[in-house]
Amino acid sequence: MPEPSEPLRLLILGAHPDDAEYAGGGLAALYRSYGNVVRMVSVTNGEAGHHKISGPKLVERRKTEAAAAANLIGAEHEVGDERDGRLWNNENLRERLIRMIRSFKPDLVLTHRPQDYHPDHRNLGQAVIDAAYLLTVPSICPDVPYLTRMPVFGALYDKFTRPCPFEPTVVVDISPVWDRKLAMLEAHESQFFEWLPHNMGKPAVPFNKEQRRKFLDTWMSEHSASIRPSLEPAIKRIYGRDMADKVRHVEAFEISQYGTEPDKAGLHRLFPMIPTAPY
Ligand SMILES: [Zn+2]
Repeated sequence: MPEPSEPLRLLILGAHPDDAEYAGGGLAALYRSYGNVVRMVSVTNGEAGHHKISGPKLVERRKTEAAAAANLIGAEHEVGDERDGRLWNNENLRERLIRMIRSFKPDLVLTHRPQDYHPDHRNLGQAVIDAAYLLTVPSICPDVPYLTRMPVFGALYDKFTRPCPFEPTVVVDISPVWDRKLAMLEAHESQFFEWLPHNMGKPAVPFNKEQRRKFLDTWMSEHSASIRPSLEPAIKRIYGRDMADKVRHVEAFEISQYGTEPDKAGLHRLFPMIPTAPY
């Protein structure tokens, strides 16, 4: 595996405090295992993500959970103060994103697609695309130095097909870090053991730590299996027919046309963990 000359910088912009881990936590853990720099951001404060608690009490809890998840892999993290469930793609958000991305100087930025299910996801996905070109424009947000090299932008996986389906440019085998990913999700206790099971009508959540891990493993493994058919051609293309069967869990990313469009070598530099450059 080629070692990059300097650490890569991965920025995952989620709308909510568990989004980065849910759709990109495996890649984040792999990046960290190679000594790269990872920053996981929640643009909103997460105040709407519960059925029993809300407001500052929930925000504080979710900040603590996000910090714990990031600490598990030694990633940087941030929970912003935009209101959960009320995120709008406006000038304020766009300029926040421009400053945030310029300051971090990422090689790769991952976020939601504007087709995702949640309005906060959709608005953030569009806002990131809208911010992309302006990163290089000096007169916009002149207080933060503009970028002379555009990062590569990519989308986190979603299953929605209208108006256009997710196209997996890259599929990463995250089986080696599956337990790390589960541990990161486990840190978001208010979500994976309280709010989401309630919202999704899941059966009773166990109290015991060991049983909770099993509950989460089963849930996430079922999710992996459910998205597998749509990703199978990409898994075979990237891992080869023989190796594909050994790939148990994946994360998928769609490279955007709006930032730097990497060539084969550029893509392999960003995803050194995959065996073949997927072009
Ligand atoms: Zn979310």
